[in-house]
Amino acid sequence: MTTYDAIIIGTGQAGPSLARRLAGSGMKVAIIERGRFGGTCVNTGCTPTKTLVASAYAVHVARRGADYGFTVGGDIKVDMKRIKARKDYVAGLSNKGVERSLKNLENGTVYEGHARFRSPHEVEVGSEILSADKIFINVGGRAAVPAIAGLDQIDYLTNSSMMDIDFLPQHLLVLGGSYIGLEFGQMYRRFGSPVTIVEVGPRLIAREDEDVSEAVAAFLSREGVEIRTNATCLSLSQRNGEIVMALDCDQGAREVKGSHLLVATGRRPNTDDLGLDRAGVTMDKRGYIEVDDELRTNVPGIWALGDCNGRGAFTHTSYNDFEIVAANLLDGDRRRLSDRIPAYALYTDPPLGRAGMTETEVRRSGRRALVGRIAMEDVSRAFEKGETEGFMKILVDADSQEILGASFLGTSGDEAIHCVLDAMYAKAPYTVLQRAMHIHPTIAEFIPTIIGDLVPLSP
Ligand SMILES: Cc1cc2nc3c(=O)[nH]c(=O)nc-3n(C[C@H](O)[C@H](O)[C@H](O)COP(=O)(O)OP(=O)(O)OC[C@H]3O[C@@H](n4cnc5c(N)ncnc54)[C@H](O)[C@@H]3O)c2cc1C
Repeated sequence: MTTYDAIIIGTGQAGPSLARRLAGSGMKVAIIERGRFGGTCVNTGCTPTKTLVASAYAVHVARRGADYGFTVGGDIKVDMKRIKARKDYVAGLSNKGVERSLKNLENGTVYEGHARFRSPHEVEVGSEILSADKIFINVGGRAAVPAIAGLDQIDYLTNSSMMDIDFLPQHLLVLGGSYIGLEFGQMYRRFGSPVTIVEVGPRLIAREDEDVSEAVAAFLSREGVEIRTNATCLSLSQRNGEIVMALDCDQGAREVKGSHLLVATGRRPNTDDLGLDRAGVTMDKRGYIEVDDELRTNVPGIWALGDCNGRGAFTHTSYNDFEIVAANLLDGDRRRLSDRIPAYALYTDPPLGRAGMTETEVRRSGRRALVGRIAMEDVSRAFEKGETEGFMKILVDADSQEILGASFLGTSGDEAIHCVLDAMYAKAPYTVLQRAMHIHPTIAEFIPTIIGDLVPLSP
């Protein structure tokens, strides 16, 4: 048995930074990784998908050349092998960077293999047994595959296996109309595949406001993505070399056919094979590790960070978990999970930037609220760029003047939302944003305008 001061399981978005901080403070740290260094974001999540989204955007703009006053000779030809190679290059840099930095870490030892608890302070990796007073779990998650009749009989893709695709699917079926499904769906449509997105619920991205779902569905449809909602009774089969998905929709044909199927129906935590029972760590019904406001599990000396604790499902939430743990352990700075304001983006084009509460959540809270909204076609920069899909919406509390939330669906919405987010962190009343002078011409310059035109939120 080898004894360390700390063991980190998983090298996602929290583990590597935490390893550097702990080792930098003089602790002897073991880092265990069973797969690719850098985890989901780097290898099969954010980095490769946003690299592919960038290729798809370039193709889209090239096709729209006439709108901007140029022509490209002949048909736009997509070379999926080169698109994949670009993606592999960009993701590979991050993957190798994480691996190199951990393997060269002073006071750090890297173990490559599957980690499993033996007891609250012992972990086995292959034939090695490691022990430490402090253990940090950063095991992330993987694609959740739903129990659908016939699914086990066909070859299907997930966000991980999509990374190996270097050809254009003849017709891509996407099961799941949420963030991952929409990003892949629009991207492959732009690459040139017919795409059908099938969603069990009545609308896409159901956690967003209805106006957001409607606008996203509208621009995807305009690009030729077929969207089938209310697919309440799904089954899959293979017929004449095609994948056939039977639906039970309110309207339209009752089955869709395609050459490939991407299952994008959510994520599940990698906690089922971690031996958590032997450590006595409690999980919720869905397998997420329960943590307190400082990311501590119920077992003293064990923390859980990132997607596996169910308190966030993003790179920035995982990294923020690291910051909270490091601040509490090493800096005497009492940072809390509950200080965090929800924020994320959907990387369709245009993207959706989100901060704080949705309109639906504000209504449910029963507050007296005000709302301001502007269509992107009224935003001069969007008009100049020829990218006028979407709208921006901000919600504030009429009594306390607190900024409650915002949805920016539009070009650069993922960037401009940070003006609102930072004002929320500063706990500034909305009047501060209203009086700020922003730069012309930008998307963000319209934030004071939106706030200047607030109206009561109808009940
Ligand atoms: C397609 C897709 C697109 C995404 N896009 C975005 C985006 O644009 N922005 C964003 O913020 N988020 C995005 N996400 C989410 C983001 O990737 C994750 O939230 C982020 O990676 C945080 O993960 P993590 O730190 O919890 O762990 P992960 O990154 O999942 O890493 C966990 C690591 O632990 C290892 N591991 C697991 N079990 C064991 C074990 N028993 N022993 C040893 N090692 C183990 C795994 O091999 C893995 O390397 C996306 C996700 C997907 C799937």
